[in-house]
Amino acid sequence: MIVMKFGGSSLANAERIRNVAEIVKARVKYKPVLVLSAMGNTTDYLLDAAGGALRKGFVTIEKIEELYLSTIAELKLGSPLQREVKNLIWELGSLLTGVSLTRELTGRTRDCLLSFGERITIRIVAAYLHTVKLNARAIDAWDAGFLSDSAFSQAELRRESWIRISSFFPTLIAEGVLPVITGFIAKDENGNITTLGRGGSDLSATIIAAACKAEEVQIWKDVDGILTADPNLVKDARPVETVTYEEAAELAYFGAQVLHPRAMQPCMKTKTPVLVKNSYNPVAPGTRIEAGPVKNAPRIRAITSKKKVTLVDIVSTRMLGQPGFLARVFSEFSKNGVSIDMVATSEVSVSLTLDGEEDLTPVIRELSQYAGVEVKTDKAIVTIIGNVRHSSEILHEAFGLCKKAGVQVQMVSHGASKVNTSFIVNDAEAPGLVKDLHRFFFDEAAGKESPGKKKPDPKKREPR
Ligand code: ASP
Ligand code: MG
Repeated sequence: MIVMKFGGSSLANAERIRNVAEIVKARVKYKPVLVLSAMGNTTDYLLDAAGGALRKGFVTIEKIEELYLSTIAELKLGSPLQREVKNLIWELGSLLTGVSLTRELTGRTRDCLLSFGERITIRIVAAYLHTVKLNARAIDAWDAGFLSDSAFSQAELRRESWIRISSFFPTLIAEGVLPVITGFIAKDENGNITTLGRGGSDLSATIIAAACKAEEVQIWKDVDGILTADPNLVKDARPVETVTYEEAAELAYFGAQVLHPRAMQPCMKTKTPVLVKNSYNPVAPGTRIEAGPVKNAPRIRAITSKKKVTLVDIVSTRMLGQPGFLARVFSEFSKNGVSIDMVATSEVSVSLTLDGEEDLTPVIRELSQYAGVEVKTDKAIVTIIGNVRHSSEILHEAFGLCKKAGVQVQMVSHGASKVNTSFIVNDAEAPGLVKDLHRFFFDEAAGKESPGKKKPDPKKREPR
């Protein structure tokens, strides 16, 4: 058994759904379970519609209605399905009318509203798969055992879900059914619909795969996998063949478009491989995320950058040599709900980075009582994801490139995670540095001589 998850852009219209059907047909022998997100940008439309009903007392669902009904017409799906979908859209409209009249939108209502996207999408896709002779069955997540707590918009599955899910899908597959299930949603014990957080259908897919001990989860997106750099910055960024779960998690935290680290957790536990594939280019091999260590792994996997970072330098004035300085500094941040990303410390000083959006005023007020505080905005974190076993070379070469480009490195974090080396530089310098690093590390790894560099000793290079 494999789990195949298709995101909104892979299901954006009738043509994309036909394309998905072809992809699935070619993989029927692997006994797939399909997990679907809502078509196109439905979830965003629904959020807008909910906001409109709440604030302006105005109900609009034309866009959604048009998207779904025209897709059904284009795919020539019969009237029973059309009636079913019309009923769901009518229910959605009534719920929005309720919001517009009461001018109240609870978490419970919001999650219920959002669920319509996935619920309608699976019905359309399953009906279409039938027309191409696949024995598909549309399943709402709760009927497959997705039982969650009542934390609306960020629900967690209850333990018993795992057992139910683990028997539900193998049974269906043994009966020759192709299950097509809603991602993103569940129900709580009182029967209320809940959602697992934005992007949550990746998590639904990895939960099914882990619970059922599937051979693999495939996450179908609109890019050729995880790329070696942001393609907007580096034109010849290329897909990475394999990464470990840890590397993928670091990549996600430091700005790459990967699946959310939370979605990887179920598969990390069971060591189920996650394959990131492109539904617009299914022949591309994609990126395989798996348990390490990967044999013959290259030194560097990818280079990312995260902009609009704030750097805070804190130097103790009164607590010189006293225990508890660091603990006190960190507690000021946590008390004020400010999340810290990177840290470097010495005996009496700490440098740390945060997201530029955080409000630091209360933290600075507290810290200033016993420390000198300097806040520097418009910084960027440039991260090299690679094998720390090669750290001396990586640091040497990366610093050399910084020096050549006249970029001042303002802080370094290295070694805490075994896969990540990060530098703080000025925001404006980050794009150029990412390009330089990419050109150097990836052209070199490909065996080309990078401009201005001595050819590295081939014996020292890792095979790729
Ligand atoms: N449709 C939901 C969202 O857009 C869930 C998902 O796509 O994973 O967040
Ligand atoms: Mg989506």
